[in-house]
Amino acid sequence: MNRALPAGIVSTEESFLQSSHWRQFNGIIHAFSTRNGGRGADDSLSLGGSQGEDSGDIEQNRRLFCQRLGIDPSSLFIMKQVHGKEVVIVENTDQAGSVRKKLEADGAITQKKNLALTIQTADCVPVLLYDPIRQVIGAVHSGWRSAAQGIIAEALSKMKRHFRSNPADCHALIGPSIGACCYEVGEDVIRHFPVSVWNRMESERYRLDLCKTAYLQLSQSGIKEENILQVGLCTACHTDLFFSYRAEGPNTGRMMALVMMQ
Ligand SMILES: [Zn+2]
Repeated sequence: MNRALPAGIVSTEESFLQSSHWRQFNGIIHAFSTRNGGRGADDSLSLGGSQGEDSGDIEQNRRLFCQRLGIDPSSLFIMKQVHGKEVVIVENTDQAGSVRKKLEADGAITQKKNLALTIQTADCVPVLLYDPIRQVIGAVHSGWRSAAQGIIAEALSKMKRHFRSNPADCHALIGPSIGACCYEVGEDVIRHFPVSVWNRMESERYRLDLCKTAYLQLSQSGIKEENILQVGLCTACHTDLFFSYRAEGPNTGRMMALVMMQ
């Protein structure tokens, strides 16, 4: 491992990244896949996306990713992400096993063990949640549309209502995503966000900070700031390590963020 990673972030053969803090949580498996170490074209590790969910490479890559994490591929819970604010409560492990093509949602929470909640991204923000007191995990896909609709607050609110989680006990981990350095958007996007998370560029263009947005929304939902960690790497700046929709177009691969209780 030669690459300099942000403090507190570790990688396994550049195939996935983890938080060294989260690795100490008993019984929790978590990871953010990178684009490296797969069996697809150029050995890329696409775990979903535009090539089609049933593509052989993606299935093979998912098995490889699970094998490296020591989990059974049948435990993967994969949603059809639609950039909305729906957060599903997963009540039984039968719901895992294959792609839930019909289950349209951008967040999931569960108390079930051996159920791996996953989020697929190529620029959008994946957020993992863990309540060690009530033993609840969550995974949220927070692109700009879902962030504007408040999906993070929705996830925390459902954890409170259904599992009696106290946000003050919860931990959050923000994965790799496009940074404010590269995420240029127009007035149509910016009008949904507070001025604290964007900068105006020339000629009516703006740069939106999706990570800071996620951080503020987690904090406003009651998670203590010391319990909010982030990977802190921009996907578009590091296309040797990550897939980036903005930098490479819609046909690029997808990475997977994963959290599971054993
Ligand atoms: Zn960047």
